[in-house]
Amino acid sequence: MGLKHAGRAFSILLLCAGCIVPAAPAATVTPLPSAAPLAASTPLPSRTPPPTPSPSPQTTVTPAPLAARVLIITIDGLRADALYRVSMPVLAGLMQSGASSLSAQTILPSATLMAHASIISASCPAKHAITWNDYRPELGETHAVTLFDLVHAAGGRTVMVVGKEKLIQIVHRGTADVFAYVAGHDRDVAARAVSEVSQGFEAMLVHLPVVDGVGHTFGWMSPQQMSVIERADTAVGTLLEGLEANGLSQSTLIILTADHGGHALTHGSDAPEDTTVPWIMAGPGVLPGLRLASPISVMDTAATAAWALGLARPPEWDGRAVEEAFGIPVDIGAIRVANAMCAP
Ligand SMILES: [Zn+2]
Ligand SMILES: [Zn+2]
Repeated sequence: MGLKHAGRAFSILLLCAGCIVPAAPAATVTPLPSAAPLAASTPLPSRTPPPTPSPSPQTTVTPAPLAARVLIITIDGLRADALYRVSMPVLAGLMQSGASSLSAQTILPSATLMAHASIISASCPAKHAITWNDYRPELGETHAVTLFDLVHAAGGRTVMVVGKEKLIQIVHRGTADVFAYVAGHDRDVAARAVSEVSQGFEAMLVHLPVVDGVGHTFGWMSPQQMSVIERADTAVGTLLEGLEANGLSQSTLIILTADHGGHALTHGSDAPEDTTVPWIMAGPGVLPGLRLASPISVMDTAATAAWALGLARPPEWDGRAVEEAFGIPVDIGAIRVANAMCAP
């Protein structure tokens, strides 16, 4: 399905690469939840369009890509069950306006660099071949095709704003038009990201690091971690305000997830506390308030992003587009769960 409208998407991305900023007239009016009526009335994305009374080449062609750009947000170390225990009004709002799962699974080992490589490349660790979890540039970079490869090749602007420098290794050098490592609080990362939002983008990864760090020091789900989880929520709010201020809310697909959870002072195991993360998506075409029934992997992030941008997905990708979120019927029983998918 993504393939069917891929060609058109490429041309739109190319056209829009230099014209992203507040030019789009439709984008300024309504906040995110307004994407819902569109989803309800429009079969997505390249189903047969309904017949039109005055057919013309313009009205009967494949629909445009669902989203003009994708913002991926990772809250490092955010356990899914934290959302039941901490007040996160921004994330709650995203869940209300979009589709979500609080039982999404990350890859194994449940560690930052490997998981982020899988998030951005829709690939199992065996494919991206990042086996280390430090900044070790001498070991090279991901072996997998990433979302940034696709968007960059299509002429889109790609941006990474991260709180851990090692994340440079999850993309191929040259495919991130901006790589910003911000050593600071989540709010500092968010502020830097907002400055990039104002310059326009087609794909952006924003990584908020503090929840993980505090977990290692004080423990997962400790009062101290609860406190910084609330601040991470606020930082996400800053990002959403940045989109809104630049007139991009209505045309941006937002996917928020985490690389792993944690227990005690650590993570990395296959325990549910380590592997279960939130996966929340909102934006054009996403059904509001939907709790996803299908099993979600963090690898579905890049696959869904590429699908919504109308970009052809590499056949070797392990993640899948979460079509259920857009109201497309899926055979849930046929979907393999993440860790089984990556098993040797
Ligand atoms: Zn992490
Ligand atoms: Zn950690």
